[in-house]
Amino acid sequence: MRGVHGIARDVTEKKRMEQKLKEYHEKLMESEARYRDLFNNATDPMYTLDTEGCFREINNAGLRVLGGTLEETIGSNISKWLTPESLRIAQERLGRQFRHLPVPKTIVYELICKNGEHRWAEISTRAIKSGDKVIGIQGNARDVTEKRRLELQLKEYHEKLQKSYEDLIEADRMKTEFVSNISHELLTPMTSIKGFTELLYDEGRMNDEQKKSLEIILRNSDRLIKLIKDLLDVAALEKKKFGLNFEPVSLNDIISKSVQYVQPMAIGKQINMIQNVAPLSKIWGDEERLIQVMTNLITNAIKFTPEKGTITVCADETIEDIRISVADTGIGIPADKLCCIFDRFYQLDGSNSRKHGGIGLGLSICKSIVESHYGSIWAESEGKGSTFRIVLPRLGKEV
Ligand code: ADP
Repeated sequence: MRGVHGIARDVTEKKRMEQKLKEYHEKLMESEARYRDLFNNATDPMYTLDTEGCFREINNAGLRVLGGTLEETIGSNISKWLTPESLRIAQERLGRQFRHLPVPKTIVYELICKNGEHRWAEISTRAIKSGDKVIGIQGNARDVTEKRRLELQLKEYHEKLQKSYEDLIEADRMKTEFVSNISHELLTPMTSIKGFTELLYDEGRMNDEQKKSLEIILRNSDRLIKLIKDLLDVAALEKKKFGLNFEPVSLNDIISKSVQYVQPMAIGKQINMIQNVAPLSKIWGDEERLIQVMTNLITNAIKFTPEKGTITVCADETIEDIRISVADTGIGIPADKLCCIFDRFYQLDGSNSRKHGGIGLGLSICKSIVESHYGSIWAESEGKGSTFRIVLPRLGKEV
């Protein structure tokens, strides 16, 4: 009896074990079904690869991107779905992952879909391990085709823009070359017209009427020569060939020579010229170019100041700088235009400026010259009259 009782107990234990195993198995199947459901219906593509790089699993989103059926895809190698360049990168990445080496978190592959269309996917992968051994790769992907297409389009636009910019630079260079050539061609005959006219004038065999005509020719020749020289300066500035001859120069001399040069014009308009200039230290500079700046500022002041107005030229120095100003009692400059007047070809009022001559180059040239002397120039105006200020550094040098 004891023996029979013993066998009956063994069977009960076995049954219980079998029941438990069945329950575990069912739970496992349920969990597997849940995982499969999640895997298959995930919005982003997911897949696993074996150690040869062949698809072991792929979800519906993955199949939709590649365009193949499950049968066509499972077992196929990634080489079937990647461009040669992406395949090379993928193989390198797989190789590193199989050798437990670090890889970048994500990578973008160019895919060749079943219908031949190229798409781009951003992939992140991790190794599937059994113990220490890597037995496969699990990958998540994101279809980034639209983003990639936009990026490529942007790159194309950027290249086109770059090309247009280069064409523009070339056209600008040719324009500068043209302006420079034509200005040189114009300057030579203009200089000889002026020279011969002066000769005729100096011979003094003219009557008053003829003399007046020659004076008009001379005035207009001077205006034309000034314009041509401004154009040449602008072309030289653009070509960065604006050579300056630096030497010790006296700003006192430069100011008085400039005032002397424009004096006839001021007298013509009965303008009162005041000079309030302290003795100044010599600086390193280009005398001719600094005279050009000063005469330009004073000529402008005369041009834009009505008859019987006043122009005051002041200069003094501090330990660091020399400060020069040209103030007039003229028409003034609107506050919002104070910066623009230093731009090339900028004129406040075309008709007014045309009346006075000039093509809006003078101040831009002045600015370049002053900046080449490491100085700064600006204009101030409060309703009536304008003041142009220049600050030139003494550069800590006694010359
Ligand atoms: P432009 O040779 O035509 O006079 P500038 O570059 O010397 O050219 O001057 C640019 C513009 O700045 C002028 O056309 C004028 O409108 C304005 N401007 C310059 N100086 C004065 C001033 N002293 N008073 C009023 N406006 C001025």
